[in-house]
Amino acid sequence: MPHEFTQKIGEFLGIDIDKMFGTSVAARQTLEVMKALCVQDDCCQYHQYKYRGMLHQTARRLTAAGSNDTQKIGAIFSWVLTHTRFQPDPKVQYQGKMVESDYLKKPCVIFDEIESTGKAACDCDDHSIILAGLFKHAGLHPGFLAISGNGKYLDHVTAFCFNSEKGINQVCDPQNFDPRTYGGKTLEMWV
Ligand SMILES: [Zn+2]
Repeated sequence: MPHEFTQKIGEFLGIDIDKMFGTSVAARQTLEVMKALCVQDDCCQYHQYKYRGMLHQTARRLTAAGSNDTQKIGAIFSWVLTHTRFQPDPKVQYQGKMVESDYLKKPCVIFDEIESTGKAACDCDDHSIILAGLFKHAGLHPGFLAISGNGKYLDHVTAFCFNSEKGINQVCDPQNFDPRTYGGKTLEMWV
């Protein structure tokens, strides 16, 4: 549990890591929203509920032939890799400046983009949402891992999934950041 580990180091040093960096509260809120969004399978009025049940159907179809977690996780991860392309969120105007936005896509928005263009445009949080949503609907146990390149800001997020054969939380990151070498501050949340 990387975050607990970080907290323990903080305790050892007599500091509150979260308070000191001040970013975990915002990151935790983002992960909470992602956690709620990723399992939503009801679609919306905008799509006239066209993608209702799509997450569940896709998850079950992709994992039907898998006889263990390694195969199921692999099938979902490959599908996401071939049906998405990386695209950072657009910059937005805020108080006269162009700043990073943090737009989160619902699964139905991702399915709609796949249907209309072949590949959905996803940044790291969108990738994590569709992966965790599919893992969850396949009956697996996913989570989100926010990581930091500089030890101060949680600037990247990836989905992971518990693999019961291997006894590990398998990181599934289309951008391929390795949390062990990316290092720094981390925050983990089960979906
Ligand atoms: Zn919708």
